[in-house]
Parts: sequence; C-alpha cells; structure tokens
Amino acid sequence: MADRSLRGMSIGAKSMESDEGVDFAPRFQAYYDCPNGHTIILPFATDAEVPPVWECRCGEEALLRDAEQPEPKAVKPQRTHWDMLLERRTVAELQDLLDERLELLRAGKLRRGA
Ligand SMILES: [Zn+2]
Repeated sequence: MADRSLRGMSIGAKSMESDEGVDFAPRFQAYYDCPNGHTIILPFATDAEVPPVWECRCGEEALLRDAEQPEPKAVKPQRTHWDMLLERRTVAELQDLLDERLELLRAGKLRRGA
C-alpha cells in the first residue's frame, strides 16, 4: 500500500534535477553552546561574519564553539622622533653625522641655524 502510493512520485529525483546547476554559496555550520546545555547549529555562508554569541531559545547567550578569540590588538607604543630617526639611521650613522657637524662647527663653518 505504502509502496504503491509512493511509486511514480520520484520526489527525490525531481528535487535533484531542480537543484542542478544551482550554485549554492559555500556554507558551513556554526555550533553555539548554551550554558544550559543547548546546542544551536546555524548555517552561515563562509564569507559571512559569524557572531561570537547567539541568543539561545532559553534566553541565555550561547557561545560560538571553537570561536577564535579575538586577539588583543597589539598596542603599538607611541613612536618618538628618536624612534623614527633610528628606523632610518643607525646609531653609528648618526654618530658620523654628529661628528661631521661638530667638526664643521668647531671649524667655524657652521653658523647658528644653518
Ligand atoms: Zn539554552
């Protein structure tokens, strides 16, 4: 009886056909773990921004499983002029430049502000 009623419908085959040629965006499933033991599985496009938390049906905040912990941004120390200078010149080079200027200064060839 059951067999006869299903015969000829070929639902599977038809839906397979209709899916053919359809280019699905790549997806993955994100798992959220609720503190109350619930698991939420949500499909996301691979290029979608997956929220780190999702509100569970029980109202708790479920956490994205294996969520990449956002790395604390490396706080760059404020660069001083001296730091910038050292990025372009080595101390040895600066010493040379200083010596050169001092030599000119002592020789009276360097005027103030020149
Ligand atoms: Zn829950």
